[in-house]
Amino acid sequence: MDVLNLIGGRWAEGEGEEFADTNPARPAEVVARGRFASAREVEQAIAAAREAAPGWAATPHHARAAVLTGAADLVDASADEWGAELAREEGKTLAEAVAEVSGAARILRYYASEADRDSGEVFASPRPGESVLVVRKPIGVAGLITPFNFPVAIPAWKIGPALTYGNTVVWKPSSLVPLLAYRLARALVQAGLPDGVLNLVYGEGEAGSAIVDHPGVDAVSFTGSTAVGRAVIARCGELGKPVQTEMGGKNASVVLADADLDHAAEQVCLGAFRSTGQKCTATSRLIVASQVADDLLERVAERAARLVVGDPLAPEVEMGPLVSSAARDRVSAGVRQALGEGAKPLAGASPLDREGWFVPPTVLDLPGTGVDFWRTELFGPVVGAVRASSAEEALGLANLSEHGLSAAVFTRDLGVALSAVEKLEVGVLHVNSESAGTFPYVPFGGAKQSGFGPKEQGRAAREFYTRTVTVYLGAPA
Ligand code: NAP
Repeated sequence: MDVLNLIGGRWAEGEGEEFADTNPARPAEVVARGRFASAREVEQAIAAAREAAPGWAATPHHARAAVLTGAADLVDASADEWGAELAREEGKTLAEAVAEVSGAARILRYYASEADRDSGEVFASPRPGESVLVVRKPIGVAGLITPFNFPVAIPAWKIGPALTYGNTVVWKPSSLVPLLAYRLARALVQAGLPDGVLNLVYGEGEAGSAIVDHPGVDAVSFTGSTAVGRAVIARCGELGKPVQTEMGGKNASVVLADADLDHAAEQVCLGAFRSTGQKCTATSRLIVASQVADDLLERVAERAARLVVGDPLAPEVEMGPLVSSAARDRVSAGVRQALGEGAKPLAGASPLDREGWFVPPTVLDLPGTGVDFWRTELFGPVVGAVRASSAEEALGLANLSEHGLSAAVFTRDLGVALSAVEKLEVGVLHVNSESAGTFPYVPFGGAKQSGFGPKEQGRAAREFYTRTVTVYLGAPA
């Protein structure tokens, strides 16, 4: 399968380096091939988005929404086929991949439905005959930079609001997942998106920073690692450019003494091992009340050891490979370091001797919070546990991180649950469910070093993709 850049409505082969997108379960298998956009083509994409901006902004919201609905229908109709492609290119299981594609269609529909909601506010004025209107306008050209781990859902939750509110887009997907980017862009074009409104450029970090730097890009929305996100924030700060970044996590699940241990163990495993732990909201730290720690950890380790690891396309497989050899090496090195620092392996931990970028689901009993594992996001299927002697101590340990994306708390005590709501420094909190999982109609994003700028998803996205004009509308004299 050959994939193409999209520049000003033209499908372009790309003037940059050739790339091959390979299957992480069978690295010799090429899933897609293409060429990166050259620096000149990135410029052309930005120029095309600028040229298309006034026309798209002036298009009635319902007409813009109709394109999103049409694309959502195409995405839905292709969910099984694209799901298989997503599993082959990224490595999550077929069931998760199909669900991600269907989820992307739901996100596009949600943003289409924005056309039916209020588009501003009206305030009273103390002056006779006057009203004060707060109207919303697009910000212009949005530069969107997306990570590998949700190749279609995260792009949909940036492109959907960007387009519905009247912006044009230059999008650089992760170079690890070009095929699903191509599929989504094609669906939007097929649904009737005018030339230049969406531009897709393949490239690595250099293409991302060219978009961030370019004066023709009015605002930048980035999702990815904290290190790159902070560089993007700094550059946008220098340029005075609005920026939104969603970044890394080191998410905690807290299991208290009164929790249903079977349920908690199951949810901790879903949080830690689904998508091979490659979710920004994956559980990687486990904090367990001392009274139930041995019991809970035995259940978590037993479930982890039972997980079927293998080719994500096989229906019985519950966990696929990591996305790349670099990811496999990073996760394996992180586990080795934790063992070297005194962690006890309860499940997994030893390398898997098989083709592909596989690591086993791993559960570590940590010697304390001083180990590097506690601080560093590995972005793989590894969870490390510590014990806490009280609910208060457990919540304090959950906050002991520079990250603040998501957390989960397992308890039957409403008072403790409310105290978690009050005390935990996170953007997303699950009470009695795994730390991962989002609905498209509610805000999503992290606290502390995990997120910067307005939240994504739901109506919260409007704060980033529009600017307000306050209009004092007086009656003619
Ligand atoms: P990444 O390495 O930071 O890359 C993210 C995107 O930024 C990719 O498209 C990447 O391009 C691009 N990029 C790299 N260097 C850049 C630069 N200097 N300027 C501009 N763009 C640049 O992240 P990833 O490995 O794809 O994704 C995993 C990370 O994302 C994890 O840390 C995870 O927690 C985080 N994440 C956060 C959320 C959230 O909502 N908080 C959601 C999902 C993932 P190339 O990779 O093609 O070079």
